[in-house]
This record gives sequence, structure tokens and C-alpha cells, in this order.
Amino acid sequence: MSGEPQADCLFCRIVAGEIPATVVRETESTLAFRDINPQAPTHVLVIPRAHYPNAAALADADPALAGTVLAEAGRVAEDEKVAESAGGAGYRLIFNTGRGVGQTVFHAHVHVLGGADGLRERLV
Ligand code: 5GP
Ligand code: ZN
Repeated sequence: MSGEPQADCLFCRIVAGEIPATVVRETESTLAFRDINPQAPTHVLVIPRAHYPNAAALADADPALAGTVLAEAGRVAEDEKVAESAGGAGYRLIFNTGRGVGQTVFHAHVHVLGGADGLRERLV
């Protein structure tokens, strides 16, 4: 993938300002906004502005940008006070990759989840 905007991509449309979102952080290359259907008190999505279909494709094409997405996820967790260093219990980062495991938007994104007791249970 070239990273070019895709007309039929929901998150490209959020990046373009065509669909509103509650943005909590932004950089030149990334955007962080609240999930419309939150699964925890903190549920923020961090995306690259450029379009890649999933996190691995992003990392393959632009490792520095993938690193920025991860660093921004950490900053969101600090801002939201869910990171241990900010007094929280910690947070979980999830990259759904593939329809069969629940990926519904095929623009790379990481879910930042925190503040829910259920997150204390280990998934793996
Ligand atoms: P996935 O299931 O692909 O890992 O994650 C996509 C996420 O995007 C879901 O958690 C879903 O709630 C969220 N989402 C879908 N449509 C919108 C929208 O229009 N705005 C926002 N902020 N989040 C959305
Ligand atoms: Zn896109």
C-alpha cells in the first residue's frame, strides 16, 4: 500500500475532516480520537494519517511512522491517567488484524484501553 488516502475509508475521512471525531491528540503524522463505541472508560484509537490496511502493513512500509503511532498511544495513556507512571493501573494496546478477529476498519489503528476492572484479567 502506498499510504494514499482511500475515498471509501472511514478513518481517511476522519483524517480529512469529513467525519467528525473527538480528537484527544494529534501530530503531523498521527491522530488520536475517542472510539464511538467505548469498551472501557478510556478507549482511544491512534491512527497514522496515511492509509495502511493494518498495523503490520504500516510497520512494513514505514517503521518510523509505526513507532510514532506506538509512542502516541503511550502519550494518550499518560494524558488519560491510565498509565502506571500517571497513577493508573496500566493499559492495553490492541491491533485487530483480519475480519475473523473483529477488524472492521481497514485503516491501521491501535486501541488504547484503560480504566476498566476487566482489563486486569490477562488475555494472553
Ligand atoms: P476494529 O474493530 O477495526 O479494530 O476497530 C474499529 C473501531 O472503530 C471500533 O471500535 C468502532 O467502535 C470504531 N468506530 C467505527 N466507526 C467510528 C466512527 O465513526 N467514529 C469513531 N470515533 N469510531 C468509530
Ligand atoms: Zn484510510
